[in-house]
Amino acid sequence: MKITGIETLVCHARMRNWIFVKVLTDQPGLFGWGEATLEWHTRSVVSAIEDLSQLLIGEDPRRVEYLWQMMYRQHFWHGHGITRATAIAGIDLALWDIMGKVTNMPCSMLWGGPVRDYVRTYSHLGGGKMEDFYETAADDAKRFGDLARKAVADGFTAFKSMAVPPTMPLEGLKPIKTAVAAVEAMREAVGDSIDIMVDCHARPSPAMGLQFAKALEPYGLYFFEEPCWPESVDGLAAIQAAVSTPIATGERVTHLAGFRDLFAARALSVCQLDITHCGGFTEARRVAALAEAYRISLAPHNPQGPVSTAASLEFGFSQPSYIICETVHGDVPWREDVVQEGFVTEKEGRIVRPNKKPGLGITINEAEVRKHPFQQELPQRVYYKDGSIGDW
Ligand SMILES: [Mg+2]
Repeated sequence: MKITGIETLVCHARMRNWIFVKVLTDQPGLFGWGEATLEWHTRSVVSAIEDLSQLLIGEDPRRVEYLWQMMYRQHFWHGHGITRATAIAGIDLALWDIMGKVTNMPCSMLWGGPVRDYVRTYSHLGGGKMEDFYETAADDAKRFGDLARKAVADGFTAFKSMAVPPTMPLEGLKPIKTAVAAVEAMREAVGDSIDIMVDCHARPSPAMGLQFAKALEPYGLYFFEEPCWPESVDGLAAIQAAVSTPIATGERVTHLAGFRDLFAARALSVCQLDITHCGGFTEARRVAALAEAYRISLAPHNPQGPVSTAASLEFGFSQPSYIICETVHGDVPWREDVVQEGFVTEKEGRIVRPNKKPGLGITINEAEVRKHPFQQELPQRVYYKDGSIGDW
């Protein structure tokens, strides 16, 4: 059995271009799907996949670990930069999809699963409509409350919001009170039985992140995400040590040693590895094993397309410490036209029952994908009041 080609299909989905990866083999009808979506870097990832394909064509697709080592270590430059790590992930997911199809088992079954009856999912406020999630002004507390009620009405028992405004490295009381008002409005809207998450997008400095974390601690957040840059391991650790709220991070960390440093520093309680950015299932399984030793929860970052979601769920059915899966469903109205999924989502509670089809269990409708060709992603920029550059 040999790999004969690796193709990419780009599908423009408003905020992101989904990059679907198709690994072809010399066996009739046998191919695998992966996803390597990296917003604002679409052309780079597509080219990186083309570069990597030179290493793989002619190789046996079932030697997944061997091929992962090849992609990560050959060509001198290790594959943990975000572009190449994403490209490797897309190919790795497709190789595991092939392995599932060859053995006629869902991916989770290849790793000893399923370990649970269902995977819980959570939504963004607005369900993935970028304006609702990213552009609701932090001082519009009523809107946060309304969108929270809507998420619960849509069946979710947990949702994430961006209730912390961008701040300069140091600011006074106002942004803290703004965030408190937004979170208070959401808590009042949905009560105590719904889990609320706040994502800071690593906008705050460690000093501001600590203030936000302390001010929001009384509201019992399920987790508090990226309260400062992931590079600031000490800053994250200081924040986690100061509050009982679980700190979540990891969506921008691309390799095992990066996670090791965060875990060893006790910088987080929730590991948000992104299966499409940290080297695919092959590296994600190593990260999960290390997290298990620290009893750190897994809650993958997954605002991408439908193959990423299928992969994140397969992972969840194989990992004991997996607590919840991020999902978006309202980013584009034609999401379900592009893919047929092997798993079933129950609207009540938004829980997902296991996929029973081989591999990732998905079918991509390539004709539908071609209706949405690449377009430049919309710019998302943050500037502070004085015109200096902030983090989006
Ligand atoms: Mg995030």
